[in-house]
Order: sequence, then C-alpha cells, then structure tokens
Amino acid sequence: MSNIKVDKLMTILKENGYKYTDKRKAIIDLLVKEDRYINAKYVSEKVGKEFPGLSFDTIYRNLSTYVELGILELTEINGERFFKLACSSDEHHHHHHICLKCGKAKNIHTEICNNLNIPELKGYRIDGHKFEIYGLCPNCIKDENK
Ligand SMILES: [Zn+2]
Ligand SMILES: [Zn+2]
Ligand SMILES: [Zn+2]
Repeated sequence: MSNIKVDKLMTILKENGYKYTDKRKAIIDLLVKEDRYINAKYVSEKVGKEFPGLSFDTIYRNLSTYVELGILELTEINGERFFKLACSSDEHHHHHHICLKCGKAKNIHTEICNNLNIPELKGYRIDGHKFEIYGLCPNCIKDENK
C-alpha cells in the first residue's frame, strides 16, 4: 500500500534519523489502515506474517519511538498500551471516546476544556490536560446483543 499519509509519516521518520525500511513502512501502513487503537501484539501478528523475523521487542520499540515523534497516540487500558495514528494537529482540540472492544476512537468536543478554572488549582500552572471516555461503540453494542 502506498498513500500520501504513509509517505508523509515515513518522511517524519527520515527527518528524525530513522532509515526507511520495509519493516518500518509495514508498521506505519498497518496503523494508517486500521486507524483505531491496537496493541503491539496485534501489530506483531499482522506485520509478522510479512516479516517473520521481526521480533515483538523491535515492534514495541518502534511503536514507542513513533509515539515520541508524535506520529502515534498512546493510551493505557487495564495496564496495556494501545497505539493509534495521531489525530492531525490541524484538527480542533478534541478528546476521544475509545471503544474497549474494537479500539475505535470517536472525536468528542466538550465544554470541560473551556472551563479549567478549577478552585483546587489556584496558584498552579496548567500546561495541558488529558480526558478520555471508555466504553463501547454502537457497532460493538449491536454485536453484544446478537
Ligand atoms: Zn481524534
Ligand atoms: Zn467498537
Ligand atoms: Zn480538552
């Protein structure tokens, strides 16, 4: 698979000193294609079919690097790390409802972000915030009721 998004991300890797390899491209390809939260095990299963010699550790290290470079977003659910293609920085500030079954992230916009005048934080500086809602997406709810 080749598309503009993948090429753009591979360029970011190159600019940060990470050589273009088929394995790195396969990992990026998968994350672009899935566009939802997936864990390293899933990446390892999928990409491992194409590159049997690629170890879980290498994949995990790559995913962590991509998070550091801002290519991927990371969330932790029940102590396990899940990775997703980062939302574009041109998008409006938003948060996600994350489906615990399929990993899909639904963008949500909430008033919370506009009202960070929290009494307990008087005298503190706020540099950012995180807010995630977990549950099931409508499709997974339908599947559960089958
Ligand atoms: Zn988003
Ligand atoms: Zn779902
Ligand atoms: Zn916010």
